[in-house]
Amino acid sequence: MEDERGMGEVVFSPLYEVLKKRGVHFRFFEMVTHLSLSDSGTQITGIRLEKALRVEGEYQPLEIINGVPCWRKHADPAQTSPWPTTTDADERQEELLWGRDFDLVILAIPAGALEPICSELVQTHPRWKDMIAHLPTTATASCQAWLNCPVESVGWGGPNPEKGPVVGAFSGLFDTWADMTHTLAHEGFDAEGGPKQVAYFCAPYPNPPEPSRAAASQRLAEQTRTFFERDLKPLWPNLYTDRGEFQWEELWDGAGQQGARRLNAQYIRANVEPSERYVQSHAGTLKYRMKPGESGIKNLFLAGDWTDNGINIGCVEATVISGELCAEAMKPWCLSNPLRSRRHELEFETGGPR
Ligand SMILES: Cc1cc2nc3c(=O)[nH]c(=O)nc-3n(C[C@H](O)[C@H](O)[C@H](O)COP(=O)(O)OP(=O)(O)OC[C@H]3O[C@@H](n4cnc5c(N)ncnc54)[C@H](O)[C@@H]3O)c2cc1C
Repeated sequence: MEDERGMGEVVFSPLYEVLKKRGVHFRFFEMVTHLSLSDSGTQITGIRLEKALRVEGEYQPLEIINGVPCWRKHADPAQTSPWPTTTDADERQEELLWGRDFDLVILAIPAGALEPICSELVQTHPRWKDMIAHLPTTATASCQAWLNCPVESVGWGGPNPEKGPVVGAFSGLFDTWADMTHTLAHEGFDAEGGPKQVAYFCAPYPNPPEPSRAAASQRLAEQTRTFFERDLKPLWPNLYTDRGEFQWEELWDGAGQQGARRLNAQYIRANVEPSERYVQSHAGTLKYRMKPGESGIKNLFLAGDWTDNGINIGCVEATVISGELCAEAMKPWCLSNPLRSRRHELEFETGGPR
């Protein structure tokens, strides 16, 4: 790629813009909490939603940074507000109904969050019960660090020292290091005083005791200090003093904090919430996965890295292929419902609502 950027800008912003131009209607900050099943167990008849925030007008998820449409890191406070504590629960919830609000459902919610949402499917269909019981997931740890020195000066002795490597299976808190310096050009730093390197670390983070992301991330931040002080030495030997101490001043910090406090200026995050957990492919579990077109429910199709998509590991390739299989599986419905699918097409063309 000539102009290298991050995933949000390369994949998600362009996809959003294309779909928007085709008339797709997006709704943000609404969580699906329940799928209702018909008495016969063959159709999804309702989708229950919980609105996490109040949105003023049509939410714009992109912000332009250095001329590039970027996906926002947090909800934009200028476009959203928390619900007042006095708000009635009914106002925050909505039930979409089959035939009135939707025809087909594509379930693309991550594996770790499916069980409560799909409780009726699990109770009614043994196949669903088996799949949900055999979709293992793990919490993950991640850290993005900005440095004052370029990647070629850290002392990495393996291949690709000038451009920066991607290293996996490393021991310690984070087992993966990827040089992400190519994203710097788009982060709006001053060329003179800004960082010279971006390092991305991640790893599985099995069963942290804290259930919330904030508390688990706090613990991870403390462990990350030890990672820099001790574990990283074989990969970045040049950033340690003769006495073996990590030189904290190599971490970039716009606020000029000293010592290990510079970790406060890095991005450290534990992904522990059910929908953030990484999908694993344990031996003997793949046979329980369903193909995107084989949910066993007439109007329900599946997409995501947790489906049986041929690759069957947690990665973007598996996710994309699951989406293609899902679209393929929906074709017969579109052909057998030409009037309804033509109506959808017309809405795409005119941008009109349903
Ligand atoms: C730390 C980490 C590093 C990774 N690194 C790589 C990598 O380098 N290369 C690679 O190929 N893959 C990587 N992966 C894996 C990759 O991110 C996943 O395989 C991929 O994102 C899965 O796509 P998905 O659409 O199935 O799920 P997601 O990307 O998780 O998308 C699901 C969407 O559903 C939304 N959602 C969740 N719950 C609800 C709900 N109740 N109602 C409505 N919406 C909901 C979420 O907000 C999210 O937008 C990594 C994963 C992790 C955790």
